[in-house]
This record gives sequence, structure tokens and C-alpha cells, in this order.
Amino acid sequence: MEKITRYFKSLLLLELIKGMSVTGKYFVKPKYTLQYPEEVTPKSNRFRGLHALRRYPNGEERCIACKLCEAVCPALAITIDSEPRGDGQRRTTRYDIDLFKCIFCGFCEESCPVDSIVETHIHEYHFEQRGENIMTKAKLLAIGDRYEQQIAEARAQDAAFR
Ligand code: SF4
Ligand code: SF4
Repeated sequence: MEKITRYFKSLLLLELIKGMSVTGKYFVKPKYTLQYPEEVTPKSNRFRGLHALRRYPNGEERCIACKLCEAVCPALAITIDSEPRGDGQRRTTRYDIDLFKCIFCGFCEESCPVDSIVETHIHEYHFEQRGENIMTKAKLLAIGDRYEQQIAEARAQDAAFR
């Protein structure tokens, strides 16, 4: 019986008609074309874009060089060197993220106990020279300084779910 039904279905092209009806429905519906880059879609506050290192409001860098992010990174994209500062506090002397290795999984920001390494909403960037794929500590801190307000707002919106 099943074979007969299948035979008649294929003979009457029912599946094709069903598919074409979906196409026809969307043919007359309003289109959702976005004129990028003039128009952009809203981003989730959990969007994982370019990384940044944050500071406290007094200017002190948050990172305490615990290396949890380096240990958790599945792509081995983070390289950290550290040593004690003059006041005895441990700080990074090198904090590199290789963006060619990074898979933007977000594990680094999830593992950070002081909310230092974060992923921003920045997704439009490019490299022109060899080596620009390495995000150094200075570059990461500069991004953090520039986008701190946006980063803080996104994290405040998501605070209840963290
Ligand atoms: S986002 Fe994932 S892959 Fe990229 S640096 Fe962080 S932990 Fe590593
Ligand atoms: S960014 Fe966070 S997790 Fe990574 S070393 Fe610094 S404090 Fe530790």
C-alpha cells in the first residue's frame, strides 16, 4: 500500500507542488534585504567578536595573570608571560592572542575570574601585514579602553544569566 501511495505521489508531482507553494508564498512577502554596511542587524549582548582586555575604573588593569584563559583555550591561541610588579602584584608582561588560531569559542572570557579578557561586538577588521594577526597586550588594552562603555553595558544586560 505504501508503495502505491508513493507511486501516485511521485506521478502527481505532489512534493514539487508543495515546494513551489512555499517559494510562491515567499515571492510575494516583503523582503528582508539589509543594505549592509549602511544598515546592520542588532547584535546579541553575547556576541563573540574581537577580544579586549579591560581595566578597572581607576585605570588599573584587571588581569592578574592567573593564566586560566591560556589553559582553557582549545586552540592554544593565547600566550601569556608574567612576573611580579614593583608592588609585589603579579601582572602579565606578555599577553598575545593569535587570531589565526582563535575559533571565537568564548571560553577565555568565561574562565576569567576578574572579567578582564572579553569578546567585543567588533567583527569588521582586517590584516594587511604579516604578524598583524597577533593581538598584543597593548592592542587589547587599547580596544578595552575604547569600547569599555559598550562592553560594560552588554555584560550588565547579561549579568543575570552568568
Ligand atoms: S575565544 Fe576560544 S579560541 Fe579564541 S582565544 Fe578565547 S578561548 Fe581561545
Ligand atoms: S585574562 Fe583573566 S583568565 Fe586570563 S590571565 Fe588574566 S585574569 Fe587570568
